[in-house]
Amino acid sequence: MKLEELMTVATFSEAAPADTLRQRLEAARIPAQLFDEGMTQRIWWLVPRPKAHMRVRVEKERFEEAEALVRRWNEEDGALKDAVVCPECGASRVEYPQYSRRTLMTFFFGIANLFGYLPRLYFCPVCQYTWSPEPPKPEPELDVLNWAVKRPRKATAPAARSRR
Ligand SMILES: [Zn+2]
Repeated sequence: MKLEELMTVATFSEAAPADTLRQRLEAARIPAQLFDEGMTQRIWWLVPRPKAHMRVRVEKERFEEAEALVRRWNEEDGALKDAVVCPECGASRVEYPQYSRRTLMTFFFGIANLFGYLPRLYFCPVCQYTWSPEPPKPEPELDVLNWAVKRPRKATAPAARSRR
């Protein structure tokens, strides 16, 4: 399988249910791969506890077939019950944190993230929906970018806030 041609068909925060789904796809003769993004989240995004980092990926040409199969299994027996699923469109191709990996703003977001200015959210690249991984809290006030309004804390020296 060529790496650049793999697409995420389901996203999990735990390895076991992700691997179960991978094996199920393999049994249905769809080559699938388990990809752990946890290290990237920790190092690049300074996320202390990775979420939605176990990705079940398939080749691009088999993606639609695989997704339809996974959705059907989910209706039949809850194959995605442990997966991270978009509450808007039902896709399980969720990114965390939400800052796009492909944007020039990445560096800015990384720094803002380091200082704790930005809430970490799940992001659905299919319908662009973002939502909080935490259990629902009282409605946060949202700004124009749909981020929860949060008083920036006073910036302290990076060393003082290091999370190692
Ligand atoms: Zn969505």
